[in-house]
Amino acid sequence: SAPAAILSALSAAARGGVLFKGGGAIETLAAVRIFAFDKTGTLTTGRAAVNQVVARDGDEDGFLSLLAGLEAHSEHHIAAAILRETKARGLKNVAVMDVNAHPSAGITGRDSIGQLWAGNTRMASAMGAAIDDPALTQLAEGAQTVVYLGRGPTVLGAVTVADEARGTSAPALRALRDSGVRRIVMLTGDRRPVALRIGAGLGVAPEDIHAGMLPQDKVETIAQLTRDGAVAFVGDGVNDAAALARADVGVAMGAAGSDVALQAADVALLSENMQKLAEAHRLARRTVAIIR
Ligand code: ADP
Ligand code: MG
Repeated sequence: SAPAAILSALSAAARGGVLFKGGGAIETLAAVRIFAFDKTGTLTTGRAAVNQVVARDGDEDGFLSLLAGLEAHSEHHIAAAILRETKARGLKNVAVMDVNAHPSAGITGRDSIGQLWAGNTRMASAMGAAIDDPALTQLAEGAQTVVYLGRGPTVLGAVTVADEARGTSAPALRALRDSGVRRIVMLTGDRRPVALRIGAGLGVAPEDIHAGMLPQDKVETIAQLTRDGAVAFVGDGVNDAAALARADVGVAMGAAGSDVALQAADVALLSENMQKLAEAHRLARRTVAIIR
């Protein structure tokens, strides 16, 4: 009978580390033909590494200590990369307080001297800071994420951080297409050159790569996509709760995902193996074929 097929699918999925929030989620996932993915920490490992460091005053270690002092208060993957770098260099993080996170832009705070910020060009503009130093503008020519650190309108320097696609992302996207998924879309708050580099490697069409997005932009894009059919959004839970909630099926990836994300999601992937997603989609389709 129908409930029995659903129940056995739920338990088979759970054994594979995929938790559906009820049988309804299986039926909805089976109908999904459009998958939208967050980039950082979802299609990519989220374990970025710091590459270049440009400190305008020439003191790289002092610059990194300040940046890490601020990022020590952030949950973002970028912050973890920066903290690993200062740790590897044996540096002490500067004490920073009154910290505020600005989703898809960066972070602000205050040290003993005054106000500080770190983030992308959106963050810099919000602080009235212009990025015109050639040593800094040159960093943005590459396909890496650039994190600027500034004090008010003064940019103190920047680091580049490079993240790579998960090994399981490309085969998972291929498997999804093989099982009838028509469209795969990437939604990211990161810069377009970075998004294109990762997306191209995964076979995502350039017109389906949306960069520079705020959490609200992701929600709006998902709403538009739903006009063409059922949409799943797959995110790792950093700033993605609204998108997870807006999609027909929200998929939260990784046990590290936040509680908020798990609440907003319909499906939780306990491991970071993206192929579990393709397996779950196939299982959902098989199950629905049985009960119909
Ligand atoms: P994604 O959508 O790919 O998961 P996010 O929306 O989380 O990316 O972040 C988008 C961009 O915002 C980052 O690429 C970075 O430039 C900036 N950003 C966000 N949080 C931070 C932070 N704590 N420190 C520096 N930059 C940040
Ligand atoms: Mg993310």
